[in-house]
Amino acid sequence: MQFNKIIGQAALKARLIGNIREGRVPHAQFFLGPRGSGVLPLALAYATYLFCEHPGEGDSCGRCNACKMMAKLAHPDLNMAFPIFFVDKKPRTCDYYTEDWRDAVLEEPYLDADQWRERLKGENKQLRMGVDIAGEMLRKLSLKAFRGGWKVMLIWLPEMMDPLMANKILKVLEEPAPGTVFLLAGHTHDRILPTILSRTQLVKVPALDPGELASALQERYPELASETARHIAARSEGDLLEAMAMAEGREEEVFVFLRDWLRACYAGKMGEVVAFTDYFAKMGREKQKGLMRYALYVIRQALLQRQDLPQLIASFGEEMEFVRKFGALLDAWATEGLRRALEEAHAQLERNANPKVLFLDLSYALGTLMRPERHLA
Ligand SMILES: [Zn+2]
Repeated sequence: MQFNKIIGQAALKARLIGNIREGRVPHAQFFLGPRGSGVLPLALAYATYLFCEHPGEGDSCGRCNACKMMAKLAHPDLNMAFPIFFVDKKPRTCDYYTEDWRDAVLEEPYLDADQWRERLKGENKQLRMGVDIAGEMLRKLSLKAFRGGWKVMLIWLPEMMDPLMANKILKVLEEPAPGTVFLLAGHTHDRILPTILSRTQLVKVPALDPGELASALQERYPELASETARHIAARSEGDLLEAMAMAEGREEEVFVFLRDWLRACYAGKMGEVVAFTDYFAKMGREKQKGLMRYALYVIRQALLQRQDLPQLIASFGEEMEFVRKFGALLDAWATEGLRRALEEAHAQLERNANPKVLFLDLSYALGTLMRPERHLA
């Protein structure tokens, strides 16, 4: 992975490269940014630049042995830790899953935890990093660099580290051997021990710029009209994965789910709501959060509709039709209530709430908010 393969983020790339060229390489950095912003590709490009035998002013050379090995994620001094499943009798270490991880990242360097989970065929199992991975890391870090230069310890999604693992790597994270660099790449810091955070330098990765995301979409989907690409980029909040789902028409499925679920909530059809709940529970955490964000987007659209601001409305087609009807249904009080309930649900999903309980409660709350007369009944 080279910097030139990364979408946008020009200022950040220039700063990272400039720092390396000036000899400022912190011993631990945390690339922190939202889903689909490129935290992992950036960390990998950074590692490639460190390893490169002929680094240029703007990027690694792409031709030396180190670059070639990094292109396959097979550089012997690139050590990787990532979340896995704990399965009976199978080792709880990353080495066991390295081939899968390499394939998944080479296929889609912007991948998220859900795509990784799907690759491991573990739908609803919990991804974790435990103390065995810490042991594996310490063992690898105790060896000399194979090629005599930098040694990189990459931790993907550090927010999934168990406290036991986190505590076990504290010391080495604070004072790694000279030439060892920790690169953490993740999406949230509120589940990471403060003692870990205080030992890393934060590299904030912003969401993608809509214009740059639109160009990237057209590169990936040449058949996509430029207007559609711009539309999608504007709606996906700088998240490449969300934008790709929309470009591939997968958002159609999400729209139908949201529309039919909200109708069931409104009509108080609890049998249907339970069926939606089962489906929701199987979606995977990132998609569940995506649905909450999408619902918030639809509510904002409905609000604009009510305020008669059609020039700000990004919806079209069936979604537009739904937004119009939905908007007519809501007063300001209900809209605010829905917004708060969905934001709270999103936050709870981030904290690993039980999706079934959460979704059932939410369905009931939304139904009540949409039909305030039920309060009086
Ligand atoms: Zn090179």
